Amino acid sequence: MRFSALRVLREGLTGNKGWTPHWRDPQPKAEYDAIIIGGGGHGLSTAYYLAKEHGLTNVAVLEKGYIGGGNVGRNTTIVRANYGLPGNSEFYSHSLKLWEGLEEDLNYNVMHSQRGQLMLCHSDGQRDAFARRGNQMIAQGDDAELLDREGVRRLVPYLDFDNTRFPIYGGLMHARGGTARHDAVAWGYARGADQRGVDLIQQCEVTGIDIENGVVKGVQTTRGAIRAKKVGVVVAGRSSQVAAMAGMRLPIESHVLQAFVTEGLKPVIDHVISFGMGHFYISQSDKGGLVFGGDLDFYSSYASRGNLPMAEHVMEAGMTLMPMIGKAKVLRSWGGIMDMTPDGSPIIDKTETEGLFLNCGWCYGGFKAVPGSGNSFAHLMATGNHHAPAAKYRLDRFRTGVDLMDEEATGSQHNLH
Ligand SMILES: Cc1cc2nc3c(=O)[nH]c(=O)nc-3n(C[C@H](O)[C@H](O)[C@H](O)COP(=O)(O)OP(=O)(O)OC[C@H]3O[C@@H](n4cnc5c(N)ncnc54)[C@H](O)[C@@H]3O)c2cc1C
Repeated sequence: MRFSALRVLREGLTGNKGWTPHWRDPQPKAEYDAIIIGGGGHGLSTAYYLAKEHGLTNVAVLEKGYIGGGNVGRNTTIVRANYGLPGNSEFYSHSLKLWEGLEEDLNYNVMHSQRGQLMLCHSDGQRDAFARRGNQMIAQGDDAELLDREGVRRLVPYLDFDNTRFPIYGGLMHARGGTARHDAVAWGYARGADQRGVDLIQQCEVTGIDIENGVVKGVQTTRGAIRAKKVGVVVAGRSSQVAAMAGMRLPIESHVLQAFVTEGLKPVIDHVISFGMGHFYISQSDKGGLVFGGDLDFYSSYASRGNLPMAEHVMEAGMTLMPMIGKAKVLRSWGGIMDMTPDGSPIIDKTETEGLFLNCGWCYGGFKAVPGSGNSFAHLMATGNHHAPAAKYRLDRFRTGVDLMDEEATGSQHNLH
């Protein structure tokens, strides 16, 4: 089933009776060429590119819950390519290019909206840092524009420019940044993978990884044992637990990140805006809700909900930046489990077990990475070679200390990245 304007019109006129399910509900087979553990954004996009670009279709995605139930359906949907360090810079640039062709590629409306991302600065030092970051983005081939205070005011006059503690000095505008509808991204990749023959198996938790003489042989699941020549672990906040099934101890801590949405309002916030003096970022969804978030809850946890002190902190940051937000009523909040690395950058690598691959450490920025991550991880799993844009995402950098990518320059404490 392909989507088109004509199809939508025809279905609308004939009672919407012709739509079929987006993907099958197959029983697990006894053996696959490749198994992906985790049906989040990264797992689904990996399966999609394995099938599409490498002709590997005897593939299963094993998901313990339901497609889109993890972080891929819980994030604040920001998509951008504004990283500064070699390694991250080329990877996120690659990912953003894939985003720009994604809807045509998947034949699916993921509501990718390049409405622009504006990072605000509140001191001379921060403005200098943004100038440097903007130059790094331009050198990478992406876009950036440094705005002065009046330039920012023209775009977003409703901010509190003269806040006594945090006056706005200017901002860095990334016009190709924006948002996408998070769960539609999962559904689009799931549908595309299924159409190419990938089995998406939900309610199937992996409980063990079978290894013989250093070679992966398959997995144990709540629906029985499944053999496989290759296994990719792509389980975000559960990475440490699943890697432990293969005897690995990862340099990852799992932390909670919360997000919030208000009641639907008329269009008021056109861009994605990031406050420079606190962890606060906001955009407006197509339904009208103001979607915003802040920092991690500062303790490690596997609970997908946060607690009130961070909620209060985020609301305070919002009120400081845009006092008018105080009139909006918060409708709901939720949390997700972040796989935090010591340098804040991810891992896409082989492991010491032959045939076992690892994709994790996306911290709180992995939604925008979904296309690039799947694309590069599929390349690694299919060919055994690292894909150029993700070539620096090696696991052993945490053992050797070489090629660490500490984008925020905050040191090695997981929850500060
Ligand atoms: C509140 C919040 C806001 C965020 N905001 C942004 C943002 O604005 N921009 C951005 O780029 N990123 C953002 N992120 C981060 C981003 O959502 C994540 O980095 C990314 O979604 C993680 O990858 P994933 O989609 O594959 O994870 P998930 O969707 O969590 O997928 C992992 C899957 O693995 C499954 N799984 C776990 N264990 C097993 C097992 N044993 N067997 C089988 N399946 C298993 C889980 O059920 C889950 O479905 C945010 C995250 C949160 C929580």
